[in-house]
Amino acid sequence: MTPFDTMSTHRSDVRGASDGNTGLKEALFIYNLPFNDLLHRAHTIHRSNFDPNAVQMSRLLSVKTGGCAEDCGYCSQSAHYPTGVKASKLLEVEHVLSEARKARDGGATRYCMGAAWRSPKDRDMEAITAMVRGVRALGMETCMTLGMLTPQQSARLADAGLDYYNHNIDTSERFYSEIITTRSFVDRLETLANVREAGIKVCAGGILGMGETVDDRVSMLVTLANLPMPPESVPINMLIPIPGSMLANAQPINPIDFVRTVALARILMPTSYVRLSAGRTDMSDETQALCFFVGANSIFVGETLLTADNPGEDRDAALFRRLGLRGEQLEPIV
Ligand code: SF4
Repeated sequence: MTPFDTMSTHRSDVRGASDGNTGLKEALFIYNLPFNDLLHRAHTIHRSNFDPNAVQMSRLLSVKTGGCAEDCGYCSQSAHYPTGVKASKLLEVEHVLSEARKARDGGATRYCMGAAWRSPKDRDMEAITAMVRGVRALGMETCMTLGMLTPQQSARLADAGLDYYNHNIDTSERFYSEIITTRSFVDRLETLANVREAGIKVCAGGILGMGETVDDRVSMLVTLANLPMPPESVPINMLIPIPGSMLANAQPINPIDFVRTVALARILMPTSYVRLSAGRTDMSDETQALCFFVGANSIFVGETLLTADNPGEDRDAALFRRLGLRGEQLEPIV
């Protein structure tokens, strides 16, 4: 089944696009629908797959910050740019677990742990797997983002009980080398395949506002939707321009275009969680509300997101009250 088989309305709108690039053409057609038609279609699909008033809440902790060998042009933690972020060592397991406990008590149901690595060293795997086991024992879902993984490392994380692995494809294959030169788009897909093969759920999305075209945004989503199995979780980030990084002066994305992209993610991946990730601090309440309407149903909570600002709990709680949204409850982990 292709992602387009799940679209419930107006199939005749796209009849005629029949060459090898059908996925991209159809997706572009949808992205460019009149805004109200796009909102309606995305919300209808969202409502038929999820409770439209429930939002999954995750918290993210940087377990190893800065000094990364990769040159991702958007990142504060790359050693290639003078961003002022200092490199630190991997946190102690106990420290991570005490932070996870606080996150759980604050309502988070998934704990995400990120390390600024090109890939983990085998000597780090013992501490990493201890973090996974410890967080699961607290009754939370676990997610990690550690860079590229081998099949063996993926299997060790799966054995420890890791629920999700985050590995964003960032942008389109065409635009990728303009943002990152130390690895390739294909490297990204390889790690995603290793993770999937190990039986770990996949979290993969991208970043908007890096100077990409509409085609790049749509192509990124088409790639994700056409993976052998679409990611269970799709983070959509709005670039936070980091002073000193390559993209320090990137032009911000128009909020309507941002909402269109979130809507398309929901339509192409009807049963995936679509997460509003980085950039919410600079997003208006109205933009976030539209994103929730068209299918975003996951956020990161807490004051910081790795090294960047994030709306604090008070602002999110106030927004949730005004919109009548609530945090999604997790089934007990067994
Ligand atoms: S995004 Fe990740 S891989 Fe890229 S520089 Fe930052 S920490 Fe390293």
